[in-house]
Amino acid sequence: MKEDFYDILGISKNATDAEIKKAYRKKAIEYHPDKNPGDKSAEEKFKKAAEAYEILSDPDKKARYDQYGHQAFEGGGFGGGGMNMDDIFSQFGDIFGGGFSGFGGFGGGGGRQRRVKGSNLRIRVKLTLEEIANGVEKKIIVKRKIQAPGTTYKTCGTCNGTGQVTRITNTILGRMQTATTCSTCGGAGQSIDYRPSDADGQGLKVTEETVSIKIPAGVEDGMQLKVAGKGNEAPGEGVAGDLLVAIEEQDHPDLQREGNNLHYDLYVSFSEAALGASREIDTVSGKVRIKIEEGVQSGKILRLRGKGIPSLNGYGKGDLLVHVNVWTPKTLNKEQREFFEKMSKDDHFRPNPDSGEKSFFEKVKDMFS
Ligand SMILES: [Zn+2]
Repeated sequence: MKEDFYDILGISKNATDAEIKKAYRKKAIEYHPDKNPGDKSAEEKFKKAAEAYEILSDPDKKARYDQYGHQAFEGGGFGGGGMNMDDIFSQFGDIFGGGFSGFGGFGGGGGRQRRVKGSNLRIRVKLTLEEIANGVEKKIIVKRKIQAPGTTYKTCGTCNGTGQVTRITNTILGRMQTATTCSTCGGAGQSIDYRPSDADGQGLKVTEETVSIKIPAGVEDGMQLKVAGKGNEAPGEGVAGDLLVAIEEQDHPDLQREGNNLHYDLYVSFSEAALGASREIDTVSGKVRIKIEEGVQSGKILRLRGKGIPSLNGYGKGDLLVHVNVWTPKTLNKEQREFFEKMSKDDHFRPNPDSGEKSFFEKVKDMFS
C-alpha cells in the first residue's frame, strides 16, 4: 500500500500552497543526501517527499490525487520507481535556497560538460514607502562563499573533465553503454589541486562583501529581486549563484498603499469644513499644500493625480486620494453646547444632500472615471 502524500509531508488535506512548500522544504533538508551520506532510508524518504511535492504543488495533479488517490497516476511517470535524484534536483533545486548544492549537484546532464552553479543566497530588505516611490540603491553586507585565493583546480583524472563516466557492460542483447555521474568530482569535471588551510573542501571560504542593490521604483512587499552572480561562488570553473532579495515594505504613519494608489485620511474641523481651508499634507515626494473648498462634505475624496507610486514597468503613476473627514469634538463645555443647540434649531444646518451636492454613488463613480 502506497503511503499517503499528505502523511509523507506531515500536513493536513487543507494545507495551503505555502504550507505544502514549507513542509516539503523541511523534509528535503532533513533527508538531503548531503546531510545523510550513504543512508539509503534517508534517500528513500527524500525521494518520497519529492514525489509527494511534485503532485501536491501542482493544482491539477493535486485535484486528481484528492479525488482518486494514487490510482490517478498509475501507469504513468511515478507508478513504481519514483523519481531519480537528478530529476529532483533539476525540478526543485531552487527550493533549497542557500546551503546545499554539492560539488556538481546541479546541472543539465547530457553529454556536454556540466557547469556547476554555486548556491543562491537570500536576504530581506526593508524599504520605506518613500524609497519604494522613488527607487533606491541599497548597500548590503552579504556573507558569501568565494574561491579562496590560492586555490587551484585540475581536470578530474577519472572522467577527464567530462563529469561523466561511461561504462560498457556485456548483456545478452549485446554491449550496453551507460553514462553515470563521475563519483570522483561529482560531475564537475574538476577537482581540487591545492587549497589554502582556510578554505573548505571545495576550495571556498566565507567573506563579507558589500553588495550594491539597485531597487527600482514601484516594487511591492513580497517581491523578489535577483542580483545575478552575487550568491555563493562555485568551485573550479563553475558560475556563482544568485543573490535573491526579498522586499519588505514598512508601514507609513499617514499613507496607506493600495496597488499604486495611496490613501490619506485628512481631518478637518466643523469650521474648516464650513469656511474652507488650506492644509499641508505629506506625500511620498515631499509636502503638498491642498485647498479645501468651503462647504466640503465629510467623505469627499480629493484626487491628487500622479502623487502615488510609479508602476514598476515605468509607465504611469498612481494617485494620492485624500479622504476628507469632518472631525466632531467628543466633549463640549456649557458655552459650546449652547452654541450648537442654537444652531440645531436653524433650518440652514439641516442636512440636505440633494441640493446640488453629489450623492455618495456619484462621488464613487467620479473616483473611477
Ligand atoms: Zn570526474
